[in-house]
Amino acid sequence: MPRVKKIEKKEDKKHRKKKVPVQAVRGMNDILPPEQFIWDYILEKARKLCNDFGFGRIETPILEHTELFYRGVGQITDIVEKEMYTFETQGKDAVSLRPEGTAGVARAYIENGMSKWSQPVKLFYEGPMFRYEKPQAGRYRQHHQFGAEIFGDECSAVDAQIIYLAWKIFQKIGIKNTTIQVNSIGCSECRPVYKKLLVDYYEMKINKLCLDCKRRLSENPLRLLDCKEEKCMQVASSAPQIIDHLCEGCHDHFKNVLEFLDELEISYVLNSSLVRGLDYYTKTVFEIWEDGVEGAQTSLGGGGRYNDLIRTLGGEDTPAVGFSFGIERAVERLLSSGFHLEQKIRKDVFLVQLGNMARKKILRLFDKLIDSNIVAGESLGRGSIKSQLRMANRYNSKLALIIGQKEALDDTVIIRDMESGMQEVVTMECIVQEVKKRLKA
Ligand code: AMP
Repeated sequence: MPRVKKIEKKEDKKHRKKKVPVQAVRGMNDILPPEQFIWDYILEKARKLCNDFGFGRIETPILEHTELFYRGVGQITDIVEKEMYTFETQGKDAVSLRPEGTAGVARAYIENGMSKWSQPVKLFYEGPMFRYEKPQAGRYRQHHQFGAEIFGDECSAVDAQIIYLAWKIFQKIGIKNTTIQVNSIGCSECRPVYKKLLVDYYEMKINKLCLDCKRRLSENPLRLLDCKEEKCMQVASSAPQIIDHLCEGCHDHFKNVLEFLDELEISYVLNSSLVRGLDYYTKTVFEIWEDGVEGAQTSLGGGGRYNDLIRTLGGEDTPAVGFSFGIERAVERLLSSGFHLEQKIRKDVFLVQLGNMARKKILRLFDKLIDSNIVAGESLGRGSIKSQLRMANRYNSKLALIIGQKEALDDTVIIRDMESGMQEVVTMECIVQEVKKRLKA
């Protein structure tokens, strides 16, 4: 026991001596107040649409048993093999920070007996995901996703509906120049036959492949198709296409999905090399790309059908389909297309004060306005009326409520129309009513 104490002390000393790195962990970012505004804007649109489409919100823990991702996402996938933050707890459980959202939501579906709920069960989620990837623009070690899943419906119209929802979210957010890339990767019946064909083809071209692809050939041959190395892309361009080798069920399902998309007038591109990185997909897979920018690095979101996942995790046979998108990437796209945060920040009224007595009155008035659902701005620290009125302009406030020393003594407020500059004195008692009236006008 004393020995342990001594070691602990040594460790403590080591940490105490080390300079605190005033820097976030590599690949992880702070999200500061000006950015929060755009995050809220995106999330509100996405949540509203999900509510309109009949989805309920679910939150699952950030930590899950490592086994969930091994079984669910697949052991021989980049995410599980190379990118998970995995550690052992003090209780010796192997846990991982979630690298994606679907496996956790599927686990929650089984654990909470949702197969007994009225089907289909439609859920949406949002939150941080962790992947130990090489950080670069649009690729972080902690990023955030918004996703939606539908459990218990195998109809192809539901695949089209989830694609439509994903597309619609980007439309509503204001990212309109997107293309849907779609493919079908078959099922446990037709995919193995296709995989064999693919391996035969690639074995003949093995010398032209990058090192990663040589490994994928034996471990995860579908991933050969979406390698981004130039030489591998050339080999992939003449590879057999899965579309030509789907079983009848998968073929008909996919044909119907495309017909529903046509009906919804969403333009899409058939992309035979789109396979997605995770093992759980069956049949339809899709990604949303920004027009003119190709490749997974720039995919804004993606998803597909995963009919085998719930059974793989120990639940009843349950068809499912879902998608997710990266919030950071959506934020970056909006900012690079000239989305101005300031334009969106608006305070209905701005409170202007002169002196300490006025400040006291302003604090009380601010509280009254909040209780009446009026968005108010203030700048308690500023002394000059001119600079406070400048702020009112910056916030596009319709009215400024000014309290100087005289007004503080008289218990009155000067109400100023920011557009016309017209001013009027109103008693404190009537001010909220007057503001409401003028904001409505
Ligand atoms: P995935 O299921 O891997 O396609 O991820 C879904 C979406 O999350 C992607 O389309 C990206 O928008 C986003 N995403 C995935 N990985 C990262 C990352 N490392 N950094 C930022 N966003 C990411």
